[in-house]
Amino acid sequence: MTDSAILRVAVPSPLRRLFDYLWPADLGPLPAPGCRVLVPFGRRKVVGMVVEVTDHSDFHLSKLKPVTQLLDSQPLLPEPMLQLCKWAAGYYQHPIGDALGTALPALLRKGEAVPEQRHTYWQLTPHGKGLPASALARAPRQQQVLQHLQRYRTASRAAFQPLGITLTVLKQLEQKGLIEAVSTPLLQSSDPVELLSETPLPLYPQQQQALDAIELHNFHCYLLDGETGSGKTEVYLQAIEKVVRYGRQALVLIPEISLTPQTLSRFQARFNCSVVVLHSGLTDRERALGWNAARTGQAAIIIGTRSAIFTPLHKPGLLIVDEEHDNSFKQQDGFRYSARDLAVIRASREEIPLILGSATPSLESLHNCQQQRYTRLILSQRPGSAQQPRWQTVNIRQHRLSAGYSRELIEAMQQQLNEGNQVLVFLNRRGFAPTLSCHQCGWIANCYRCEARLTVHRHINRLLCHHCEYQQAVPNSCPDCHSAQLQCIGQGTERSEEILEALFPQYPVIRVDRDTTRRKQAMQAMVDRVNGGEPCILIGTQMLAKGHHFPNVTLVAILDADGGLFSADFRAPEKMGQLITQVAGRAGRGDKPGTVILQSHHCDHPLIASLVQQDYRSFSDMLLAERHLAQLPPFRHMALLRAEAADGQAAAEFLQYARQCAEQLLPASPDTGYLGPLPAAMEKRNGRFRHQLSITCRERPRLQQLMSPLSVMLEQSPLGAKVRWSVDIDPQDMT
Ligand code: ADP
Ligand code: ZN
Ligand code: ZN
Repeated sequence: MTDSAILRVAVPSPLRRLFDYLWPADLGPLPAPGCRVLVPFGRRKVVGMVVEVTDHSDFHLSKLKPVTQLLDSQPLLPEPMLQLCKWAAGYYQHPIGDALGTALPALLRKGEAVPEQRHTYWQLTPHGKGLPASALARAPRQQQVLQHLQRYRTASRAAFQPLGITLTVLKQLEQKGLIEAVSTPLLQSSDPVELLSETPLPLYPQQQQALDAIELHNFHCYLLDGETGSGKTEVYLQAIEKVVRYGRQALVLIPEISLTPQTLSRFQARFNCSVVVLHSGLTDRERALGWNAARTGQAAIIIGTRSAIFTPLHKPGLLIVDEEHDNSFKQQDGFRYSARDLAVIRASREEIPLILGSATPSLESLHNCQQQRYTRLILSQRPGSAQQPRWQTVNIRQHRLSAGYSRELIEAMQQQLNEGNQVLVFLNRRGFAPTLSCHQCGWIANCYRCEARLTVHRHINRLLCHHCEYQQAVPNSCPDCHSAQLQCIGQGTERSEEILEALFPQYPVIRVDRDTTRRKQAMQAMVDRVNGGEPCILIGTQMLAKGHHFPNVTLVAILDADGGLFSADFRAPEKMGQLITQVAGRAGRGDKPGTVILQSHHCDHPLIASLVQQDYRSFSDMLLAERHLAQLPPFRHMALLRAEAADGQAAAEFLQYARQCAEQLLPASPDTGYLGPLPAAMEKRNGRFRHQLSITCRERPRLQQLMSPLSVMLEQSPLGAKVRWSVDIDPQDMT
């Protein structure tokens, strides 16, 4: 049908398509793509976004409903962002309405107007202006306000605070009709006279070379491959400075975990211009304000976690993804996008440079450098007197351990503490012990909903499942044989903390994991305490690995390095190597040299040996060679179909059907491989049985050509209604 204005609208719906609506002429001129509209959907009215304007529909006009209301006079999302969302929805096989929803702050998703950042200040009324400075002598506070405003004309509430003037005083004057509050939209930031509020550090030669290599006026990807503490952040800061100087904006993505006050204050300390931070701790209104400041160009620098990749920029100039290897850039449920990979797409479309930075780059990015798609910029030293730490392994295969600690390790710790230094112990397992078992009959406390053991949390005296919400009290006796001899097996951070307190009673032990940092500010309090400089022992999980700068830590101990060596997930060794290298990087960041002691049952394993004797670079070369042999990503492109159901059979059958459909569309060949359906590594989780089917292709476009029609077929299959299923493109977590 033709001859009518039709809007193709993205609405929040699990269906992977747009919906057509009529544009009633009485609503005025046609809205542009990127505007929100209120439309009838089923029995409800929902907020949708105009994606296309057209004059024809596949449906008969009489079937189409009219738009109810237009919510924006100007597009909320500029064209490039709309295109990016469309692209991402197509690439990740996700419903466009939901993808666009991810791109908008919650407030705007709900249909509210864009909040305006307003500036409120006080000024004298004409009556107030007429008073002599000596008036109000009997109310000194009020007189002070009067004199202040006579001198400076206006002042914000914040400006009165240091003068000790409260809102009550201001209100009293307002009531007397002497002063009034005025509120105006915040002005667009004009170029500050002085962009920087501190002098940049003089770069050392490798940093300077890296900075010079980055071309600011066209698209290119740079991998800033710099060891921990080598000064990557300084390179970011100076690249951002260049970009802001010519009136453009910089968007910096960082992992949630490294969004510490330490990181932020480095950006805020450097620049006078407005730095907006977008993270999950903001209120809806704060988030919308920050988002809008980026969109209008009011904010020059935007720092955020994963979803900030969708922040529209008025004048984009530079994208940075710090710790680009970090898993948190890939969303693991719903819209399974990778913010790092979208940054590449976004930078290329906006024709701006992208810097991916890491001390432990992902194999994907290293592969892209080898293929000469990215330029690798290497920082291999630490500035000043700081040096890379020395490594030492302790083979614990035949050792007697005191609750996880070898004698060598205890002695080394004692020595460092005696010399007034700090020690960091890394154990990536929270709780007291990972297993509770009966000494008499061998019973083990398992989660009844998951194929997993329950972790003992002694502090709260409960057993917790780390894979679902299940928890229970710690039993007094074995439920099978009623013996009271229940024992905790293995080490968690809680237990290790106890052991350390017993071994080193004269030193404080500070535990850092999800359980001790739940309170707001708790993490910062610990960081402050450590950086107070007194000798102490830090024990913690991967929360300690990233972003922190502890100049007094001279010894890092890795209690058990073997976790990733024999996992079902082909990415596990890569993640293990990254984590170990990142933790090790906390040693020796100040003036004193650092040591890393790594305990392992497999010191002679080639992967462990290459990490310890060489470095992450040779380790990652070895892994890349293995992936090449096994024809795994990044040498192949992968899609993972997952299905789970209370009835495992249904999940397997659904994937069997998926495989049949897929093989009809794209038969297996040397270029296309199918594996599965197979039970997932953790077959049962949260009461459901999980299966998966992986599809790998040599060519990315091939995989895309398959996945789009396949997703639609599966969406329409009645088998799909009985299971919970999902498509994961470039999956990161295979368990
Ligand atoms: P990375 O981001 O690579 O981990 P940082 O940027 O945090 O490294 O730098 C580590 C430390 O070295 C910081 O304290 C930083 O101030 C300092 N630093 C960085 N570059 C220089 C430089 N050119 N001269 C002196 N100190 C530097
Ligand atoms: Zn028993
Ligand atoms: Zn569970």
